[in-house]
Amino acid sequence: MWQVVGHKWAVDLLKRALASGRVAHAYLLTGPPQIGKRSLALNFAQALNCLDEEKPCGQCLACSKIAHGSHPDVQIIEGENGTLKIDQMRALRHEAVLSPLEGRWKVYIIRQMEQATAEAANCLLKTLEEPPSNVILMLTASEAEALLPTIVSRCQVLNLRPLATETVQRSLQERWEVDAERAQLLARLSGGRLGWAVTASQNDAILARREKHLNEMMELLSQGRVERLEYAQQISLNPEAVPELLHLWLSWWRDLLLAASGSSVGITNVDREDTLRIQAQRYSLGQVRDFVEALRASVWRLERNANTRLTLEVLMLSLPTR
Ligand SMILES: [Zn+2]
Repeated sequence: MWQVVGHKWAVDLLKRALASGRVAHAYLLTGPPQIGKRSLALNFAQALNCLDEEKPCGQCLACSKIAHGSHPDVQIIEGENGTLKIDQMRALRHEAVLSPLEGRWKVYIIRQMEQATAEAANCLLKTLEEPPSNVILMLTASEAEALLPTIVSRCQVLNLRPLATETVQRSLQERWEVDAERAQLLARLSGGRLGWAVTASQNDAILARREKHLNEMMELLSQGRVERLEYAQQISLNPEAVPELLHLWLSWWRDLLLAASGSSVGITNVDREDTLRIQAQRYSLGQVRDFVEALRASVWRLERNANTRLTLEVLMLSLPTR
């Protein structure tokens, strides 16, 4: 049974590929952080190597090894400190030509491909151009546009979209036994990203960090240039955490757009609706729109390997002043 929640069209497409024996050599799964790209890739790796009739069974030795990250033919490759390096792609290239050890297919899941250096991307391109048999590459990225077109054109692209809030809430209650009230809040805050909701339901630090980041942003609104630049410098020290932070800010400023237009339908930060209303009166619609654009532009630049600190400094200076 496929374990993936939602993304039914993508699961159906992969099922059909398996059933017809026409599996692509490379897939690119795109979508915002924690939307389910990695889960879908792992589930597909299970379906490819499952020993049971009903693939993926989730129970057999292959399925459980893949779930626990101990299957020798299924590897997850991730960047270190926000960079995928050429050495990692070279190692993949050398290893991919060897036959699978236990399964039918070797599956390489390369996460956040936008973090690849130009050399690493070009090295991977060589593997994509001459894919060894029995090898499937599963790339993930926030969006296809952030990657080299030559890489994208050799992959089948599956763009995963946020799930409906109700779907996230139901899964939290049914699968992860979260109580209804908490499930509802987390589902709203998740913006349709089930992975975020599940992690937050199991780890209070996630919500505490969100709280902290929102409070810091409120403070920055009344602070000057020096404090803002200091903040940019401080958060750029941990580049891994920056996408989630910008995602949070974006959700806040999008909510402000909604609140300013008098609508509360579709607001993400439901637990802070009062603050949203007060702030919505403080800024003009134009200011809010401009800052949403500035945030989007920063996300765009960072996905294309722009310097984290410089990008954040520019962003902090365009944050409206109270
Ligand atoms: Zn199985």
